Amino acid sequence: MGRVTTSVMWFRRDLRLGDNPAILEAEAAGPDGVVPLFVLDDRLWTEGATTRTAYLARLLADFSERIGGLHVVHGDPVDEVVRVARRAGASTVHVAADFGPYGSRRDRRVEEALAKHEISLVRTGSPYAVAPGRVTKGDGTGYRVFTPYFRAWEEHGWRAPAPEAKQVPWIRPGGRTRQIPENTVPSGMDLPPLGEQAAAERWHAFLDDDVADYDTTRDLPGDDRTSRMSVHLKWGTIHPRTMLADLAPLRSRGSAAYARELAFREFYADVLHQRPDSAFDYYNRAFAAMEYDEPGSALDAWKAGRTGFPIVDAGMRQLLGEGWMHNRVRMIVASFLVKDLHIEWQHGARHFLEMLVDADLASNQHGWQWVAGCGTDAAPYFRVFNPVTQGKKFDPDGTYIRRWVPELADVETRHVHEPWDLDEPPADYPEPIVDHAEERREALRRYEAIR
Ligand SMILES: Cc1cc2nc3c(=O)[nH]c(=O)nc-3n(C[C@H](O)[C@H](O)[C@H](O)COP(=O)(O)OP(=O)(O)OC[C@H]3O[C@@H](n4cnc5c(N)ncnc54)[C@H](O)[C@@H]3O)c2cc1C
Repeated sequence: MGRVTTSVMWFRRDLRLGDNPAILEAEAAGPDGVVPLFVLDDRLWTEGATTRTAYLARLLADFSERIGGLHVVHGDPVDEVVRVARRAGASTVHVAADFGPYGSRRDRRVEEALAKHEISLVRTGSPYAVAPGRVTKGDGTGYRVFTPYFRAWEEHGWRAPAPEAKQVPWIRPGGRTRQIPENTVPSGMDLPPLGEQAAAERWHAFLDDDVADYDTTRDLPGDDRTSRMSVHLKWGTIHPRTMLADLAPLRSRGSAAYARELAFREFYADVLHQRPDSAFDYYNRAFAAMEYDEPGSALDAWKAGRTGFPIVDAGMRQLLGEGWMHNRVRMIVASFLVKDLHIEWQHGARHFLEMLVDADLASNQHGWQWVAGCGTDAAPYFRVFNPVTQGKKFDPDGTYIRRWVPELADVETRHVHEPWDLDEPPADYPEPIVDHAEERREALRRYEAIR
C-alpha cells in the first residue's frame, strides 16, 4: 500500500466551503484525508453569556453538521494544532492568514511548533479581498488616509472567487475532542440567522432589493436597509471577493458606494496591521494626554440606553436587543460617550466588542477612534455631533426611536427627539443626564488644552 497523504484545515474566521482557497490547498495536499479542525482557544473562548461565544457556538454546530463533523478541540493552539496534525500524520496545516495582532503572533508560534515536527503551516488567502500590507504608498509605507488607500486598493484588484470545495475527503483523527459547547445568549438578545446559506440568502436579498439606492438609504436607521452582512464577513461565512464579484456588473451608485464600504473594512485591517498598538491605544498619541472623566454611573446609563437622549438610547437598546447597531447610530452614541460624557473611547469600544455580533477589532477600534478624533483620517474633534440634530436629520419621523424606546412610542413626531419639551414628558423615560451645549463647550475646552 502506498503512503497515505493527509492534511489539516484549521478553520478560524472562514467557516464556509464556497470561495475558500485554503480548503482547496488542504485538499490538494491531503488527497487521502483532510482534518477539519477548530480550536477553542483559551485566550478567546470564555464560558458564559457573551454575544461572540453564543454566536460562535451556534455557527460551529451549523458548520459541523454541514461537513459531517468538525473536529473541535479546546486549549492552546500551539499544543492542540501540533497534536492533531501529528495524530493525523499530516505534513501540512492549512489556514487563511490572520493579520490581527493576536492572531498573527499565535500563527507564528504555531508555525514554529509545527516546524519542529517537519510540518508546515500553509497560509492561503485571508479574510480580505486585498490582504493587509499589500497596497502601500510609493515609499513602501502603509496608507494613513482612506481616499488614496481606496484608489490604490481598486487599482490593485483581487482574484476571482475560488470554486466551491465539494468533495473534500474529511477525516477525523481519534483522540480528545470537545463537544461543541452551547453558550447562552445575553439575556433579551435575539441572534441573526447564521451560516453560509444564511449569508448567501441575505446577500442576494440585499442585491435584489436594496443595493441600487444604498448610497441614499444607508444613513437612515428607521429604514433599516443596510445589508447586515457585517456578521457574515466577521466569521467568514462569505468572502468579500464573492461580494465584489457580484457588485462589479451592477454599476449603480448604490453598488459603488457599497464596494467603498467594503474597502473601509479592508483599510482599517491594514491600519491595524501597520499599527498593532492602535487596537487599544490612541492612534494619535496626543489624545492620550487629554483630560477624561472616570467612567461611573454615566457609562452605566449609556450602556443601558437611559441617557434621556432618544436617538442615543434607541441605538444602545438596539445593541442590547440585536447585538447590532446601525452605522449612523454607532457614530452618534460613540460621539456622545466621548464628547458629552468625556469618557475615553476604549470603555465604549470594549462594550461594543462584548455586545456586537459583528465585533471586529479593526473596524470597531478604528471606528471608535475616528469618532473620538484620534484615529486615521479622523473626524475633526471640534465637530461635535448634536444628538438632537442628528436624530432629526437621520430619523426624521422618529421611526427608529419608537421601535427601540417604547416609552416614546406614542410621542408625536415634533417632540420625539426632545421629549423634555412636552408639558408632561413620559414618566418612565429619563431626563437628559447632561446639558449637551454645556458639555460641547467642555469638550472643546479639553481639546484646546492638548492642541
Ligand atoms: C463606533 C463604531 C464601531 C464599529 N464597530 C464595528 C465592528 O465591530 N464590526 C464591523 O464590522 N463594523 C463596525 N463598524 C462599522 C459599521 O458600523 C458596520 O460595519 C455596519 O454598521 C455593519 O452593518 P451592515 O453590514 O448592515 O453595513 P452596510 O452599510 O451594509 O455595509 C456593508 C459592509 O461594509 C463594511 N463597512 C461599512 N461601514 C464600515 C465602516 N465604517 N468601517 C468598516 N467597515 C465598514 C462592513 O463590512 C459592512 O458589513 C463600526 C462603526 C463605528 C462608527
